[in-house]
Amino acid sequence: MRTYCREFPAVFTTAQESTIVDDSGQRYLDFFSGAGALNYGHNNRRMKRALLDYIEQDGISHSLDFATEAKERFLERLRSVILEPRGMDYRVQFTGPTGADAVEAALKLARKVTGRLTVAHFVNSYHGMTLGALAVTSNESKRSAASVPLQYAMSLPFDGDLGAGADSLAEFEFLLRNESSGREIPAAVIVETVQAEGGVRVASDSWLRRLAYLAKRYEFLLIVDDIQVGCGRTGSFFSFESAGLMPDLICLSKSIGGYGLPMSIVLIKPELDIWNAGEHTGTFRGNNLAFVTAAEALGYWETPAFSQEIHAKAQLLRTLCEEISAATDSRIEWRGRGLIQGLAFENGAIARRVSNLTFERGAIAETCGPNGEVLKLIPPLTIAEAELREGMARIGGAIRAAGADRVAGATK
Ligand code: PMP
Repeated sequence: MRTYCREFPAVFTTAQESTIVDDSGQRYLDFFSGAGALNYGHNNRRMKRALLDYIEQDGISHSLDFATEAKERFLERLRSVILEPRGMDYRVQFTGPTGADAVEAALKLARKVTGRLTVAHFVNSYHGMTLGALAVTSNESKRSAASVPLQYAMSLPFDGDLGAGADSLAEFEFLLRNESSGREIPAAVIVETVQAEGGVRVASDSWLRRLAYLAKRYEFLLIVDDIQVGCGRTGSFFSFESAGLMPDLICLSKSIGGYGLPMSIVLIKPELDIWNAGEHTGTFRGNNLAFVTAAEALGYWETPAFSQEIHAKAQLLRTLCEEISAATDSRIEWRGRGLIQGLAFENGAIARRVSNLTFERGAIAETCGPNGEVLKLIPPLTIAEAELREGMARIGGAIRAAGADRVAGATK
């Protein structure tokens, strides 16, 4: 049952911005950000003020999907700050508060719209642990825990899986094109532009555009799961902006609530909204405290300054990763986009040891990848440059202490 508390064995008490404190007073720089739920840092002061004011005024806290002022404000801000400036026309569905429930809603809607059963997904994908989302999640240990058959899903190779330069979508396209392929056209394809849990694997813009083209050409829906790498993680609000995509359905969760408060939405192209009332309902679709902080968080996106700041920090993070890689004879592969970078080690045991030693040195970074072999670096987007440098120095120290540089180098 327990996962993260085994790996980071401390009792945490308080947190501010990029720092978490435990009950012995030890301070940790956070390079994990609640698995992407804390893009704006811990107890972000702007959001805290708005939240305290709202609570003080006895604002509605729970409301199922009643109309509330807090929800109205969030919707207005989403439209005026994010959607309209990007020329995006979408309806907003409030799902249950987990990412998995947003994925469930998107899968159900795609099947309802197309009348088809199968959803295509990619090797090393992660979309959540409920049965529908799990069916399009690749990890074997997670899948086997379902204990029932996971059906109506089709796994495809991700960008780069068939080797550099190989077209990993060619076979899929052949099967779609060939009416006698025996493969039904899927209801949808669901994709992460950067597979975060899957090992920080980045899809190229051209590959994403080709996927979008196939979806349009063969009339199945394109679902982008932007749950972990949306809300600014890659530098733009949505991770697919540089690819110029207009997905049919977009799943957002984690940092959309702004303050680490649970909240999830699906953005739906208007013509696809064929839901009957109550077909995907739920008690906790009205987390008004999250609406308050979510509306406040969108303030970061009113000007291009925040995005520019993320790009500048991302450049610094890449340089620091490069330095670590160079100092260890370039044996540690690093990859990523924006403020999600991964250091790939030879195996999961080494990455685990580096994560443990990083924790001992006062920083938190979690492992990911099919065998846990990648150290994932996702600091808050608001982290100060000095903290970014300090955290990376601690991680570099942990790598040297783990002997990971030498072990990894020994195979080359
Ligand atoms: N999709 C992606 C891309 C995720 O990273 C996650 C969570 N790691 C989920 C879906 C599931 O979100 P939740 O854990 O809130 O159900």
